[in-house]
Amino acid sequence: MLSGAELNRPAGQQAACTDRKPGLYVHWPFCESKCPYCDFNSHLAGALDNELWKRALLAELDWMLARAESLISRQQPFATVFFGGGTPSLMPPDIIAALLGRLDQQGLLASGAEITAEANPGSADRAQLAAMQAAGINRLSLGLQALQPEGLTQLGRIHSVADGWAALETAQKLFGAVSADLIYGWRGQSLAGWQDDLARIGQLGLTHLSAYQLTIEPGTVFATRTRQGEVLAAEEDLMADFYELTQACLAAAGLPAYEISNHAAAGAECRHNLNYWRCGDWLGIGPGAVGRISLAGQRLEMKTRRSPQGWLDAVARHGHGLDTQTIQQPEEDLTERLMMGLRLAEGVQLSPQQAAQLDQQQLASFLTEGWLTEAAGQLTASQAGWLRLDHLLARLLP
Ligand code: SF4
Repeated sequence: MLSGAELNRPAGQQAACTDRKPGLYVHWPFCESKCPYCDFNSHLAGALDNELWKRALLAELDWMLARAESLISRQQPFATVFFGGGTPSLMPPDIIAALLGRLDQQGLLASGAEITAEANPGSADRAQLAAMQAAGINRLSLGLQALQPEGLTQLGRIHSVADGWAALETAQKLFGAVSADLIYGWRGQSLAGWQDDLARIGQLGLTHLSAYQLTIEPGTVFATRTRQGEVLAAEEDLMADFYELTQACLAAAGLPAYEISNHAAAGAECRHNLNYWRCGDWLGIGPGAVGRISLAGQRLEMKTRRSPQGWLDAVARHGHGLDTQTIQQPEEDLTERLMMGLRLAEGVQLSPQQAAQLDQQQLASFLTEGWLTEAAGQLTASQAGWLRLDHLLARLLP
């Protein structure tokens, strides 16, 4: 998933947008099985001490809140909370309730906050989803990934097509907002089949859909199999056809792209992810979580330890699992701002100083091609620009 997940994970921004309320990302690093294309920080669950995990997450939350006390307050509470993974639908709901309760007690959860959890159909029966909803989740992001048995097999998923439809139906009854994730471009997938899938899902009244192209990420089982000669993903031209078909079908179904891989009806965009792609502040807790905040005039990136046991040990010793803390340099601000902002349909606002740092010859050529547009400092990629975004970024940035 171009990665499906990378795009949904904390990424850059910069200091100019500190007026927005912050977000909180909570990483639950466990799954029932490891999908062969997945490069997320996910591990097989085994037997877990749930009380230990609850105490550790609460401890790190308290530590992060103290670290960011000048940024996060009753006046500037969290507008969004996102439980990602891994598989958060395997997370004991009482841990979700405990974390949200801790925020609520301190007045740090904004009224109307968007509280999302990712879920997988294999671990999202009615009882589990109802418990998550009772714990405070008001938006569910369901990892369907494919709507055909061959697709689920190709992607190494453990749920069936029937499981996916059942989980979606239950989620739509329980949650005010539901999104589904799909992956396209797997081996053997046809354009006609994908068009049927998009038509079926477009009829369900979903207001948000994420459609990611399958990419072969380093370090995954798919990367090993590719090195051994297997062709697991559609070749480039076919992938572009899938992409264009996706854009056209979903726009016709009332779900235009507001980000390169994310589609929503007006007002149903994922506020938490928008905060990443724009230039907000957020804290991250749990193994391998990333947070970025603006403190004392500096842009700070904080990453926690990736290994679940290593993170638990660190929290037990220090009260947090922080692994690295980096101050972002101005040129990194520009890179992140452009990389994230050009993914958005709304584009990105650059200051005159930032715009002057771009390669002006390349910029002029991309504007002429129609891959980018510019108005009053707002730089926007067209659909054709999105198709070659890596190419554009590599040439624009200093
Ligand atoms: S369920 Fe999601 S996080 Fe877990 S291994 Fe599969 S793709 Fe990765």
